[in-house]
Parts: sequence; C-alpha cells; structure tokens
Amino acid sequence: MDYRAEILENTKIAESITVCKRKGVACGLLQGEATKWFFNGPIGRDPTLCSNEVGNCGCIHAEFRAVENAIRWRQLRGEKASLLVNFSPCTSCANLIAVSGCIERVYYITLTEHDKRGLRHLEKAGVEVIQLRADFKGPYGQGYATG
Ligand SMILES: [Zn+2]
Ligand SMILES: [Zn+2]
Repeated sequence: MDYRAEILENTKIAESITVCKRKGVACGLLQGEATKWFFNGPIGRDPTLCSNEVGNCGCIHAEFRAVENAIRWRQLRGEKASLLVNFSPCTSCANLIAVSGCIERVYYITLTEHDKRGLRHLEKAGVEVIQLRADFKGPYGQGYATG
C-alpha cells in the first residue's frame, strides 16, 4: 500500500469538502488492513465557527476525530492503530494521541511549520513518527525515509 499516494488522494478530498477557511486536513486511521479517513472542520459544518486564526481557528482537527475512533477500536480489539496525515500533528493533537495510548505510529507528509513541537511530544510519548518523503516506498520495503 502506498501511504503517501493515499494521503495525497485524501488531501484533495479534504480540500474540496472542508468548511475550514485555513486548510484541508486528512487523517487516515490505519486499523489492520483498512484505513478510515477523517477530515477537519467546525462542529455541524458551521462556517461561522472557523475564525481563520493560525493554529486556533476553532475547527475540530482531523486527528481528534481519528483518535476518538481509535479509542473504540482499542476497546473492541485490543490493538493499537497508526495514523496517516498530510500535516504533522499540532501540539494539542500530539498530546491527545499520547494520552489516548491507542496510536503506535504516525506517518505524515508536510511539517506543520507554525507548530513543530507536536513531533517532539509524540516521540517523548513513545509514538513512532515517520515522514513520508517522495521517495518513500512503504513501511516494510526499502527507501524507508524518516526525518
Ligand atoms: Zn477552521
Ligand atoms: Zn491538531
């Protein structure tokens, strides 16, 4: 499975459907062989709830929705899941991922420039973080690029 291609495909979907004025974020929850996708946006898709403020626009982050789902998966199957995201998780989402105890690995494409601390929080919590560069060949193949 090409994670990077899958994320890029879902980024287009996120950008086309999101009500958020800032950006479209796609977060895939990798549970076994299946990936469930979640997107960012305001409660009830109400555009007046998005202030357009950098890092604090008021929308629910895609990772937030994915982790909520991962908690139930963990309760049901006892397994941890992995996340696929187009942007590296912000500090708040990283903390949520950390306390949930449900996520073992996070794959991302683009570093979130205004909030790089998320990655450090994840690593501190023992969550593996992998950047999917253009030459990434898959989690078990060659070309395993991290950074
Ligand atoms: Zn927003
Ligand atoms: Zn976030």
